[in-house]
Amino acid sequence: MPELPEVETIKRQLNKKVKGKKIKSVEVRLNKFVKCPLNKFKKLVEGAKISQVERRAKLLIIKLSNSCCLIIHLKMSGQLIYQGQPSKHTHLIYYFSDGSQLVHNDLRKFGFVKVVPEKELSGFLKKEEYGPEPLSEEFTLNLFKKMLAERGKSKIKPLLMDQRWLAGIGNLYSDEILFLAKVLPTRTAGSLEPAEIERIYRGIKRILPLAISRRGSSADQYVDTAGQKGNYLPLVKVYGRQGKPCYICGTEIKRMKIGGRSAHFCPKCQK
Ligand SMILES: [Zn+2]
Repeated sequence: MPELPEVETIKRQLNKKVKGKKIKSVEVRLNKFVKCPLNKFKKLVEGAKISQVERRAKLLIIKLSNSCCLIIHLKMSGQLIYQGQPSKHTHLIYYFSDGSQLVHNDLRKFGFVKVVPEKELSGFLKKEEYGPEPLSEEFTLNLFKKMLAERGKSKIKPLLMDQRWLAGIGNLYSDEILFLAKVLPTRTAGSLEPAEIERIYRGIKRILPLAISRRGSSADQYVDTAGQKGNYLPLVKVYGRQGKPCYICGTEIKRMKIGGRSAHFCPKCQK
């Protein structure tokens, strides 16, 4: 599932490739993919120019010249491919006035698109109750300590993935951050020593930008806007490596379910 680094990669690429372009028309192949009345969607999107692409948590926000925003969630398997060829998994195609196009594919169809007036955007985001952005300046070590203190009984792995607590981190990067920090995914927030808290914090601030610089991880359907896979997966230490030896100590990497999600970890390196 695309997490912060993947959505951020798409955001940055869209700003390079489609910012300033005028949407001549939009073809909706799967009506239920659009989470607002279809005629309203077309009326607001067609003829508008893309002024800026932003991201909040795992949401893409495409600001339009007519003071509306397209809100896109890629969920499990969404792809936005510039100059992509439509396939049976293409649910939306944006045609630009210069003849180029952007196709929105989604194999599992959990994603969505909607359009809201820009003045309603903050209300929409407020309703989602996202936690702080981990790469923002606002997210300091002190804030992180305070956030952990408020959730002392929660296990750290599901907590890192809780979008209302901290935005943008999912299954893959939470596993990698906890491995780097040498902390078991089952530890409760309240049990963490100051040094462990600091290692998790540094892990967040190090791994997410590194993953962005490698255009994310293609563990499943994720590709960037050129249809290319991300390059971070070869760097993962534990995610999806159950049964394989730990790169540091050689112990077999374990996988277990925590709160319905799989956690991957080294039982020796992580305490
Ligand atoms: Zn190990």
